[in-house]
Amino acid sequence: MLERRPIFPGVIEMNHQAGWRIGCNVYLVYDDRDWALIDIGYEESVDEIVEMIRELDFPLSQCRALVATHADVDHIQGLAKAKGILKAPVLAHPKAVESLESGDRIKTFAEIAAQNVHMHLPVVKVDRQVVDGDVIEVGGHRLEVWHTPGHTDSQLAFRLGNLLLSGDNIYRDGSVGAIDAHHGSDIPAFIESLERIAASDVEWLLPSHGPIFRKDDGLFAATLDRVRGYLKLADFGTCAPHWPLIEEWDRELAEGRPPSAAR
Ligand SMILES: [Zn+2]
Repeated sequence: MLERRPIFPGVIEMNHQAGWRIGCNVYLVYDDRDWALIDIGYEESVDEIVEMIRELDFPLSQCRALVATHADVDHIQGLAKAKGILKAPVLAHPKAVESLESGDRIKTFAEIAAQNVHMHLPVVKVDRQVVDGDVIEVGGHRLEVWHTPGHTDSQLAFRLGNLLLSGDNIYRDGSVGAIDAHHGSDIPAFIESLERIAASDVEWLLPSHGPIFRKDDGLFAATLDRVRGYLKLADFGTCAPHWPLIEEWDRELAEGRPPSAAR
């Protein structure tokens, strides 16, 4: 048997429990005998995670849900395998269904040919679609579903009291989930999601990568400033709705203005 090391009452994070980094953060939310997993990570770590859960004395048959925060390969590659072992329903946002059920290799980052990334992506059926405002019950816990698009269109976060299992919205260093056109990233939506989290009264953020941290207004202000800047910069290519420099260039071309006259 392993001694349980909850980070908050009713919440274990499997990397923290193990004392080393297995992969993406995997949250086990539990109450009495019922439990659920938020993300599972790569297929190769499923056996280790399931074995830890068994040693933590959670009955495997009491898994109530396997939840995908979104359909990125590093979060969901192991879902089909975990579902086969645990016989639990898979939950995801409607916009993640096609990626999960058809195995969309581009949108999930399983295939990044230019970086020689070619990952296996098992398909998995989604048993329950959850949208903003839904509640996932785990014993007496009620996980409130937030749809927080931006990193990808299907990104979910889950509120449990003063905690927000915040997915790939923001990390402790102020980084945000990757912004990538092929991934369905949307910078204006990302800003709204970050503003929503910033304005909420949750106290702790439990991200899908890296350390858990206290919600900090300064961190959000700096991150939001940076991400708002992307609206007018070319940094993320077609994800930027507007690139004012090109309008300036059009005007300068029309005026025949020489480089020496540039502002
Ligand atoms: Zn991620």
